[in-house]
Amino acid sequence: MGSIRYRARVSTPTADAQPRTVLVTGATRGIGRTIAERFVAAGDRVATLTRASATDLPDGVVGVPGDVTDSAAVDAAFSTIEADLGPVEVLVANAGITRDTLLMRMSDDDFAAVLDVNLTGAFRCARRASKGMIRLRRGRMIFISSVIGLYGGPGQVNYAASKAGLVGVARSITRELGGRGITANVVAPGFITTAMTDALPEAQQEQYLGAIPAGRFGSTHDVAGVVEFLASPAASYVSGAVIPVDGGLGMGH
Ligand code: NDP
Repeated sequence: MGSIRYRARVSTPTADAQPRTVLVTGATRGIGRTIAERFVAAGDRVATLTRASATDLPDGVVGVPGDVTDSAAVDAAFSTIEADLGPVEVLVANAGITRDTLLMRMSDDDFAAVLDVNLTGAFRCARRASKGMIRLRRGRMIFISSVIGLYGGPGQVNYAASKAGLVGVARSITRELGGRGITANVVAPGFITTAMTDALPEAQQEQYLGAIPAGRFGSTHDVAGVVEFLASPAASYVSGAVIPVDGGLGMGH
């Protein structure tokens, strides 16, 4: 029997090794900050959207005014980044908030506000990024979800819904734009030590720790390493994936 011969379209390592324009939302603090710092260290041109409150950015990161809840501001920020740094080739949709409270006490505003930042905000950035990526015929979209998106969490109906929604977003983008050299993946961190998790009651932190097979909380570098991989040439054939970075907490849920 003759073997099947095919000619694969592969991107050349030299082309991929060029510095890229990377947009990381939410790079002022926590996970996004470490992700942005690592792209800067790798030689990429890195931008973030900054709100009025943001004063402290990592070295080498260009702050462009913008709030992910404002479509016009997102569009304007992309135009500025494109003019100053070139088209965005890697988007890391990381900006996120929580407004935890039990279902029966959760207001419409608690629900809508979290969806607006975590899910619609990521959609706004992806929609705008897709224009440049389609023209370039390459791009990487990486959505920072959470173990809670598929595992659920008491008091987190809004947050879990927003994070689960990112899976549908990434998989639909994969089906829509996969043939144009664009990948879209989800990273689902577990309990990562940041300001967001420091705010959780100690009893809840202890409860999570007991459930994590790795026996420790994660660091922002644990997440950034996976993001770096998804943006690298090694991941050019990975799309629509949900990659847990949770020490085994969600076990692929
Ligand atoms: P932080 O609270 O430390 O940082 C959140 C970032 O999002 C900040 O830079 C903040 O900017 C930015 N941001 C919030 N709202 C907006 C907005 N409307 N427009 C633009 N930027 C905004 O969060 P973490 O680093 O802990 O989390 C980062 C991501 O990882 C989030 O999506 C979170 O849900 C997710 N995650 C975190 C986990 C953890 O254990 N920490 C676990 C699983 C997922 P500003 O400085 O202006 O407020």
